[in-house]
Amino acid sequence: MMQLNMYIDGQWTDSKEYKQRDILNPANGEIIAKASEGTVEEAKNAIAAARRTFDEGTWPDMAPAERSAFLYRIASEIEAHHNELTKLETLDNGKTHAEAGYDVSDVADCFRYYAGLIRQPDGQAYDGPDQIQTMVVHEPIGVCGLIVPWNFPLLMSVWKMAPALAAGNTIVLKPSEVTPVTAVKLFEIFEAAGLPKGAANLLLGSGAAVGNELAESHQVDKISFTGGTETGRTIMKAASGNLKKISLELGGKSPNIVFADTDLETAVDYALYGIFFGAGQVCSSGSRILVEECIHDQFVERFVERAKKINVGPGNDSQSEMGPLVIEDHMNKVLSYIALGKEEGARLLCGGYRIETDALRDGFFVEPTAFTDTTENMKIVQEEIFGPVAVFQTFSDEKDAIRLANNTDYGLAGSVFTRDGSKALRVIKKVRAGITWVNTYHTSFSESPWGGYKQSGIGRGLGTYGLEEFQEVKQINISQ
Ligand code: NAD
Repeated sequence: MMQLNMYIDGQWTDSKEYKQRDILNPANGEIIAKASEGTVEEAKNAIAAARRTFDEGTWPDMAPAERSAFLYRIASEIEAHHNELTKLETLDNGKTHAEAGYDVSDVADCFRYYAGLIRQPDGQAYDGPDQIQTMVVHEPIGVCGLIVPWNFPLLMSVWKMAPALAAGNTIVLKPSEVTPVTAVKLFEIFEAAGLPKGAANLLLGSGAAVGNELAESHQVDKISFTGGTETGRTIMKAASGNLKKISLELGGKSPNIVFADTDLETAVDYALYGIFFGAGQVCSSGSRILVEECIHDQFVERFVERAKKINVGPGNDSQSEMGPLVIEDHMNKVLSYIALGKEEGARLLCGGYRIETDALRDGFFVEPTAFTDTTENMKIVQEEIFGPVAVFQTFSDEKDAIRLANNTDYGLAGSVFTRDGSKALRVIKKVRAGITWVNTYHTSFSESPWGGYKQSGIGRGLGTYGLEEFQEVKQINISQ
């Protein structure tokens, strides 16, 4: 049994109240770890360590090239631990080994990307009026609280930690209380890489206790949060006390628009991948599949035929194509949305139930599910279900497709499938979302900004934008 502790000011520390939380394997419900349950006092200690390290300059005053060397070392260590991290991510979150393996590779790449980016010459210089020489430079913001969800425990942590550390901030990471395992492993890697004490701190525990302290504390200068839209709203309020900088990566209900002139098999492939990747527990999931009326029946028939063949099973079985949901409560939430879909009058096309075979009954497995005959205002059409539940809608023409695509409070992602290049560009430009695809789905790169329009968030992660989210901008005016 693993014992998971916090890492504060360069020390591994147990919860002062010796409270432990059971961490379960979603594939069979067995306890895999005991995690220290952090208290508000411990959150204050972690914040104080990050504050002291920032104010003393140990990390922020290092030359970017020196910080970069640390990040490259961390990337190499992650690669050296690729298999171990993959197995632990599957054990903790439930995702398949293939899915977890992509995450680990992306995580190493993200550290390398920011290690390179921070060595680029920074700023601008120009001649102002009256013999003033002006320079514009970027500086770290200070102490950054990083709060992440359970669906990509490693990846979401690193999308924040790599740019925050590269920019010279000190950080306090709070992983989800449900999936803290790989964050602990990552901090062991930080320790082995010799990161200065206090530069990176790890808090375990609940959102209500340690998460809220990070959001409220006047010693924290910036909160970067990924998670549900409602939690984002709560955090924004809590963060307003000292007007800390804030980035929010929130939920989605993303439209996957399929025109009749598309290559049907390709569109079906990506529609399945768009919703069932990660068992639908992905913020950018293509959870609304908008199909042109004239091909609806044909498309749905092929989709359902393929969905029924998806091999659902434990993530550590190489035959599994889709794993379980992360915890029992979340599975019950997804099942209640399925029940609601039936009550609202949508037609269930496939799935709809927990899988209770002998092999899977102790895990949190739900069948790949799809509904059609929906109307725009149904809750299953408007709300994020965050599970393997596809909702079909139909449209008559381009204008109708765009109107439907944009008719939710969210604006995270979206895609268009068509063989007509001009139409693809016309339509995708009208989709009000920050992450869009044409004839593909779910790709992401360290270089490309990630984030949402509307109630899907504020700010962007990744790319140069992701670095700027962790930087202040200063003008320096020098009289000559
Ligand atoms: P969640 O909002 O319940 O929790 C996310 C994190 O916030 C956890 O660490 C939790 O402990 C913490 N938290 C909860 N209440 C808090 C509070 N009052 N103060 C401070 N911290 C608090 O989300 P979840 O269920 O873990 O994750 C699923 C959600 O995350 C989905 O809505 C999904 O769309 C979203 N998500 C978005 C992105 C993106 O890039 N936009 C990526 C992944 C997940």
